[in-house]
Amino acid sequence: MSHRGHWCRKHLLKRRHQLRARRREGRSWPWRCLLRGRQHWHWNLGWLRRCVWAPRAARQFLQDADAVAAPGDFAQALFDLGATMCTPRNPACGICPWLGHCAAQAAGTAASLPARAAKKKRPHRTGVAYVLLDADENVFLRRRPPRGLLGGMLEVPDSPPMAADWRTAGTIEHVFTHFSLTLTVYAAICRELPAGGEVASAQNAGLPSVMRKALDAGRRALKDSE
Ligand code: SF4
Repeated sequence: MSHRGHWCRKHLLKRRHQLRARRREGRSWPWRCLLRGRQHWHWNLGWLRRCVWAPRAARQFLQDADAVAAPGDFAQALFDLGATMCTPRNPACGICPWLGHCAAQAAGTAASLPARAAKKKRPHRTGVAYVLLDADENVFLRRRPPRGLLGGMLEVPDSPPMAADWRTAGTIEHVFTHFSLTLTVYAAICRELPAGGEVASAQNAGLPSVMRKALDAGRRALKDSE
């Protein structure tokens, strides 16, 4: 079901509740509501057309004399059908009064409707991270630009901050909302960390989780090589 269709059905159920309450209180049907009801009726028909009926069948119903004469009752019948029988996850076709006319049932597609949109494949990116430590386990870091991904946060640099004995420390994987990332990590120990960045304790540095993964991979690789 589309987002709009879902919203419409929810909204329609709310409107139905409001109109019933109004009827209970003996108040007349307001023209404004009638107009909105007609509008929703069309929206709901759009949902039903996509989910249950073939377009040609829906057009026939729109021309049906009963539907034209009593759009409120017609919409009510659709609500009741959708709320009690033709539910998105488990349509009760066996006891549905519409069974003999249902195109989805005839086509054998009732259980698979409404069709779910295919999930978009998350793009994949690659990068490198250079973990530079000194003998006291301080790490050389850079601060990212204030805007954009991880804006203003500390990062392990993506280029070597100085010439050193860089060793490969494997790769780490991280999944962001819009893409997944594989970082190849290099690590080195130096006597003195260079200028041009920020220095923090490797153990306690406040890093985003992807950078923490890279830093830990670099530290592990350096420990293993000792
Ligand atoms: S027969 Fe099944 S799919 Fe068709 S309207 Fe009834 S509950 Fe929905």
